[in-house]
Amino acid sequence: MQIREDLCTACRRCVPYCPVGAIRVEEPDRVYIDQDLCAECGTCLRMAGCPSGALEEPAEVYERPRSVRKFFSDAMATHKETLLPGRGTEEVKTNDVTARVKRGEVGIAIEMGRPVLGARMTDVEKVTMRLARLGIHLEENNPLSHLLADPAQGTLQDWVRNERVISCIVEFAAPADRLKELLLTIKDLAQEVDTVFSLDLITRFAEDGSIPVLPVLQELGIHYRPNSKINLGLGRPLREE
Ligand code: SF4
Ligand code: SF4
Repeated sequence: MQIREDLCTACRRCVPYCPVGAIRVEEPDRVYIDQDLCAECGTCLRMAGCPSGALEEPAEVYERPRSVRKFFSDAMATHKETLLPGRGTEEVKTNDVTARVKRGEVGIAIEMGRPVLGARMTDVEKVTMRLARLGIHLEENNPLSHLLADPAQGTLQDWVRNERVISCIVEFAAPADRLKELLLTIKDLAQEVDTVFSLDLITRFAEDGSIPVLPVLQELGIHYRPNSKINLGLGRPLREE
């Protein structure tokens, strides 16, 4: 995003709309966008209602490398390469319909950059590389998988590395008996990345109604908040396993 200096009146109306604090005020009367911080989410343009039409989205935002920012940060944009919208896959939250995560498996989604800090793709790559060393295969339908240079190594394509996004979801399924090992790895990674992340666990109820992942969370002292999205009517019948 850019601010046209010839039109901007420095009213500061747009400043609080930026989720990553990229709209800067230079006293006494200059407002500009830090291009390194800006994740191209489009919120300021859509929501701030700039009275002088000074906010402008250049066409380059939709071209490499800036497009990485756009497609991962703007919920209204669709990835040009993958034709997938958003940061991850919707199935991560609709397992009751899709049954992507099978019995005996656990689904894991690491929502990097959430809430509001954003994430550099170099930090995302630290996570994907470590997971690759553990033999984890990322979810193929997640747009992040299309930016990998070498899925076996977890490396990103060169042009992606310097980009920054509001949020990017590292998403995969793994055997449930590897959960403890994976959570310890993710805890370790939390010390290495320069951002925050939310961790989602997707699991099926056991036959007796218990939740298989809870003992591991309790053992590791990880606090959790049960959450679910119920898709009334859509979950019947559950896809064949
Ligand atoms: S809302 Fe428009 S005029 Fe006001 S500071 Fe932002 S860009 Fe400038
Ligand atoms: S496009 Fe998004 S990240 Fe960039 S300045 Fe506007 S609100 Fe901030």
